[in-house]
Amino acid sequence: MHLGVLSIGRTERELIDEVIDKLSSFFTFDVVYAGAIDLPTSSFNPDRKQYFSPAILKTCRYEALKLGFEKILGITPADIYTSRASYIFGQAEFSGKVALVSYFRLKDHDPVVIAERLIKESIHEIGHTFGLRHCRNAECVMYFSKSVSDTDRKDSSFCKRCRGRLDGHIR
Ligand SMILES: [Zn+2]
Ligand SMILES: [Zn+2]
Repeated sequence: MHLGVLSIGRTERELIDEVIDKLSSFFTFDVVYAGAIDLPTSSFNPDRKQYFSPAILKTCRYEALKLGFEKILGITPADIYTSRASYIFGQAEFSGKVALVSYFRLKDHDPVVIAERLIKESIHEIGHTFGLRHCRNAECVMYFSKSVSDTDRKDSSFCKRCRGRLDGHIR
């Protein structure tokens, strides 16, 4: 099992490398850099000045198939939204191939804090691709973050129950 981390738009390479590093030591499967692409122009909504997340996920899916990755995590600095939410930290295909995280709303003056938040939301979205749903435990990484304070409060790992479910999904 290989998970590729795809840079989408003008990301900072250091941040991407740090996420790859943390994900590699956290998960039992390989996590590698999958390259960099531009934000798909079709995803930009000029009225909202935001990017439509499902359109970016579609591009991620295309890249995953093209590059031969079982799963792809896209990382973008762009402000993303869906038809149901005015902004999101991330989105993933449930029990699927692709996940996407944005750090537009995870900003802080301290780059260490940004990296921590981004790693938590990355693990969260990857969890969805393994069929994990939101968890009611506010300390579990699968807890749904409504705001960055939720992200800061939760842990960067799965609670016992979510971990058990995840292990059942990873071969
Ligand atoms: Zn979620
Ligand atoms: Zn949990």
